[in-house]
Amino acid sequence: MFYLDVIGNLQDLRLQHALSHLSELANFVRVLGCYPSDGVLVHDMQQPRLCPTPLQTTILGLPVASPLAASPPTTNPDPSPSSLHVAIIGFGNFGQFLARWWALQPHTYVYATSRSDYSEAARRLGVAFGSTLAAVDLLAQHKREELGEAADNQGLDVVILAPSVLSFEKVVQGLDPLLCANKLVVDVLSVKVHPKTVLLDALPGSSDILCTHPMFGPESAKHGWQNLPMVYEAVRTQPTHQWRTQACLNLFRDQGCRMVEMTCEEHDRHAAGSQFITHFTGRVLSQLGLSNTPINTKGYETLLALQANTCKDSFDLFFALFKYNTNSEQTLAQFSDAFEHVAHQLRNGRMVEGSYQGTPETGSPADQTPADETISPIVSLLQGSATVQVHSLTQRLLSEGRKIVSLNVGEPDWPCPDEVKEAVAQAMVDNDTK
Ligand code: NAP
Repeated sequence: MFYLDVIGNLQDLRLQHALSHLSELANFVRVLGCYPSDGVLVHDMQQPRLCPTPLQTTILGLPVASPLAASPPTTNPDPSPSSLHVAIIGFGNFGQFLARWWALQPHTYVYATSRSDYSEAARRLGVAFGSTLAAVDLLAQHKREELGEAADNQGLDVVILAPSVLSFEKVVQGLDPLLCANKLVVDVLSVKVHPKTVLLDALPGSSDILCTHPMFGPESAKHGWQNLPMVYEAVRTQPTHQWRTQACLNLFRDQGCRMVEMTCEEHDRHAAGSQFITHFTGRVLSQLGLSNTPINTKGYETLLALQANTCKDSFDLFFALFKYNTNSEQTLAQFSDAFEHVAHQLRNGRMVEGSYQGTPETGSPADQTPADETISPIVSLLQGSATVQVHSLTQRLLSEGRKIVSLNVGEPDWPCPDEVKEAVAQAMVDNDTK
């Protein structure tokens, strides 16, 4: 027995090939784990393909993750589901990322189809490419025949939908429902209620539905999937076919993902307050065009990273997080209110004895309530009283010891002059009072 220490990324095809080759030469090869960051061992990074025979899987008592091994035998009607055939529709960034990992699973055959021709990319990943779902289903049938499995016209087991969110409905409507019958259909969209509704509407009752959101991508998962959240709802699973759903979930579970089972509705509520607000903030920062300065702080570098990461995703995805999550509108309104509120605190704040004392209307920021916003902005346009200004000035001059005769506010405090008294008396006698 010897241990091999390798510097490399398990997603790197060259490393995968090297490990595969090693497993052909040695009786037993096991990947014990990896150190994705900080020198901390992430235990039990599974590499099932390297242990294909029953003898090897029992060595060291380390069970090997296999979608098929995970099938509950009592619920599986198939006497020998000896291979799993998975198609990915939408072979963009994320579709290829998923394909790379599926292709590593034992006894698993991966196919792909997309609007554009990705034959070359598929070939590099060890995935069969076809121009339509019907074409890849046929490829799967041929493969089963080649493997000597009872065919029964059976092609694919699992269809994974990874098109953009905006095109999802159109892509699903373009699928032949007969081809989806008796298969497990999985979506990986970043919003969840939308695909759930579309799939329940479009698919025949015999199709199982698994809605998932792996909350990471090629960039955030470049050091492994350990502890990355994977949200899912098994919307419809026939009891006899649970093994297919388990096989799909095991792909993520075995890589160490944090599996979070929740309804699609719950997901969208949480995502609007977390994922959408993250993308929105990144996009707002990019409008400011933040860039490096000679005095970057850690906090500022976090903002730069947020700006860069969110703007790497397509605007289509950002727009979809808003358009296809009904909770995002409310989040946007709350964000806008919060922005106004904080700006108001700054613009209208006052200082007393060198400290912030809040805005005049409310006293202190903590006292501020939405009622402030009921005061019309017209009020702030009103000019101060000129009389009060003159009065303040005379008071200040008096307090400085200046001799001031103020004729500004208040009543005169000297006796009425005699001429005035006589004139008033004569006016009354003359009835000159109007
Ligand atoms: P993407 O590159 O924007 O789109 C994926 C594929 O959608 C494209 O390759 C494209 O196929 C297809 N597509 C786009 N418009 C289409 C149309 N009008 N008709 C038919 N097909 C169309 O997105 P992505 O980053 O790969 O993500 C794919 C899915 O995974 C999205 O639903 C996303 O929410 C989800 N997801 C992504 C990440 C991530 O980190 N990227 C993480 C979790 C979940 P062609 O290339 O053949 O034209």
